[in-house]
Amino acid sequence: MIDWKKHVRLMAKYRPAAIRCPHCGATTVSASGNSSFCNFCEQRVDTLSSAAIEVSSAEVPFASVLAGMVAGDWKATLESADKLMKGNSRPEQLYLLGIFYRRLSALKFQNKNYALMGFMEPNADSIRDSLDLTMKWKECFFKVVKIVGDEQQGNVQIEPELVFIKLLSELNLKRLVEAQVTLKALQSLDKRGTLYEYALMAYETETDGKQAEKLVSKALAQNEINAYFYLALYLSKRGKLSEAEAVLGKLASIASMPLAKELDYTVRLSLEASKF
Ligand SMILES: [Zn+2]
Repeated sequence: MIDWKKHVRLMAKYRPAAIRCPHCGATTVSASGNSSFCNFCEQRVDTLSSAAIEVSSAEVPFASVLAGMVAGDWKATLESADKLMKGNSRPEQLYLLGIFYRRLSALKFQNKNYALMGFMEPNADSIRDSLDLTMKWKECFFKVVKIVGDEQQGNVQIEPELVFIKLLSELNLKRLVEAQVTLKALQSLDKRGTLYEYALMAYETETDGKQAEKLVSKALAQNEINAYFYLALYLSKRGKLSEAEAVLGKLASIASMPLAKELDYTVRLSLEASKF
């Protein structure tokens, strides 16, 4: 079992550097060396490259959606996301939109107010919105899988970055059998090995696999901030909910990670339910 308390203490000591992710435009924090993974989109950022520092919002089409998210103006944000999605066949943009719609769907769902009496119409609206958004995020991730899958056919030169977002899309969709095949392809394409290692950690943690503990420990030792989310996921899969919540609470104080926020909500609900 990973010594989660030790890692939570270590996290409190981090003074992570804030960098701009060149893929999505989000401000992400990094405590490691040459590369780390974006807290928002989980794509690899070479922290020492000029791209991570000089990216301007005009270069990233997703930046307008992200700016709306940060400002909390969901109506306008949804409009610009819908506009960006229309007719879009760029896998990276669809992948980012998938993350956005998934986050908004979770927020709408959490917006239910159990204190409302009577017909609870506003609740019904929130749930309906959440389901519409769920269809959208799934559609985005399905498109990524399809488009990258088509490009993979007979193309041994395909960029590993594309295969990486295909794999993360499959994990979002819980298509674990396909994800296993994609992992194999990624392993042979990714010469540096960092994408493959991160992807394997995500897959093993999601499936509660035998290598999960080893891979999460290794990423934690490399000061990868996102590894704390996978540590929490690993703990929650083993029923260690209070421990997972402690990790997620600390993580939230240094980084904003959509999947961590969703897991935090689920863990809290389970903890509350277990009180009765
Ligand atoms: Zn990013």
